[in-house]
Amino acid sequence: MQTSDPTTLASAFEKARLVQSAWAERPLKARAKILREVAEVLIHRQEELARLVSEETGKPEFEAYSSDIFPSITLLPMIADDGPDFLSDKKIAMRLLPYRKSKINYWPLGVVSVISPWNYPFMLAFADIAMALFAGNAVIFKPSEWTQRTGQAIQDLFDQTSLPAGLLQTFQGDGKMGQAILENRPDKVFFTGSVATGKKIAEFCAKSLTPVNLELGGNNPMIVLSDAHLDHATSAALWGGFCNAGQACGSVQRIFVHESIRDPFTELLKTKVQNLRSSRSAQTGPYDIGRITLPNQANHYEDQLSKAREAGVKIEMGGHLSPDRRYLEPTVISGPGIEDSEIFKKEFFGPMVAISTFRSVQEAITKANETNYGLVASVFSQDRRMAESVARKIQVGTVLVNEVLFTAGLMETPWGGLKDSGLGRTHSLEGLKEFVHARHINSPISGFMVFKALWWFPYTPFQYGMFRALGRIYSRSWSRKLRALPELLWNFVQFLKNEPRV
Ligand code: NAD
Repeated sequence: MQTSDPTTLASAFEKARLVQSAWAERPLKARAKILREVAEVLIHRQEELARLVSEETGKPEFEAYSSDIFPSITLLPMIADDGPDFLSDKKIAMRLLPYRKSKINYWPLGVVSVISPWNYPFMLAFADIAMALFAGNAVIFKPSEWTQRTGQAIQDLFDQTSLPAGLLQTFQGDGKMGQAILENRPDKVFFTGSVATGKKIAEFCAKSLTPVNLELGGNNPMIVLSDAHLDHATSAALWGGFCNAGQACGSVQRIFVHESIRDPFTELLKTKVQNLRSSRSAQTGPYDIGRITLPNQANHYEDQLSKAREAGVKIEMGGHLSPDRRYLEPTVISGPGIEDSEIFKKEFFGPMVAISTFRSVQEAITKANETNYGLVASVFSQDRRMAESVARKIQVGTVLVNEVLFTAGLMETPWGGLKDSGLGRTHSLEGLKEFVHARHINSPISGFMVFKALWWFPYTPFQYGMFRALGRIYSRSWSRKLRALPELLWNFVQFLKNEPRV
């Protein structure tokens, strides 16, 4: 592992603050222009970068391209085209006091830090960095200690453009470096990673009220209603459970199948799992599922599976590590009592799906919500209206009907969770708001409209009478409104006589 010198962090922050203040002065369209430059460099290097991500993580090169590089490419024109308008001042329609006007003015946070994980090492970091820079911030970036070359490649990519030096600075290292970054008081922390680390970061940042955006884990449910198309639903479960070898925050883990289709669903899914090609046996040619990225994940899988066996969970297939412990056989588990087992309740973060059943739609919804997590869920049914009504009852950041997980890479849509899955949103224009402060500016509509306000000192009974009458005008009753008008006028005149306000 490479570790940057933590004693240089303070000067890195100082430099970042200096360049950031000039960067923030640049018009949004000028910042957008640099994103377009980044896009060109990224497209030029796309295959080389996909190979690098594949090498570092063990995922198939196609997956590295489709879920890391391609979404990153698509983010840039979206932000460059729509971001300037989105972050321009927004007028607030004034119902009261129309002689003054209000607007929201978005302005950058300052120097933010982006701390990212290893599972989608390019896309997750790149998206936060690009959005932060566009919004006018500087970024201190710490990639995962497990994917340092990809982290460095992101820095190099921005260095190949005309982005001012010092606006993006990468610090390599493990959690200690992450902690050292926090100690330098970034203006906001954008963290993607485990629940445990996310909570530690939130606790530390709470002391200085430093805002945090937390994209954490999931234990994501998939509900398969009785009328679901079996071939479609099983293929979706296969990809949702086993892409990236199940090491996705949005992986399908808990599958709730209507009891009437449990057996055909399970059998068809098992056949499809059996046909997955692993990089372990594919000497040449394409494969679907790669090695475990982190060697020590093997211990976690082993522990969870042995506890599951002890608890009487049925291992439908798989469940064993390869002799070199770099692969876990794609695993399907089921059986009565499975919902009480630890393996079902915790984020597994590996190539495993668990199948359980339900009798009524309400039971499926209740079971889907019975978790500490709230990232993403799926509902499968041929009745789209019914599926959407189920979707509206699931407590997560994203629900997909007849699809799984994929919007984590669909940059036009927001991504993020609730409960233990985190705080805030990323990607999309909605996510862009996380990278700015919203400042409200209220001012007179013209120079003639400047007078002492009705609520200023000295307080008089007429002033109070006028406000009470105004309050009554908000009533739904027309007679009460009408009776309030003369009272309002009379008090207003007395009030002005008492002290001229212009
Ligand atoms: P992790 O929490 O171990 O590490 C994430 C990053 O935090 C790394 O860069 C690490 O060095 C750093 N870090 C560790 N301790 C720190 C500390 N005390 N202070 C500051 N930084 C610290 O997570 P991981 O194993 O790299 O990633 C896997 C987890 O990430 C899974 O739980 C997965 O669900 C989650 N994840 C969530 C999303 C999402 O969008 N919600 C996306 C991808 C991954």
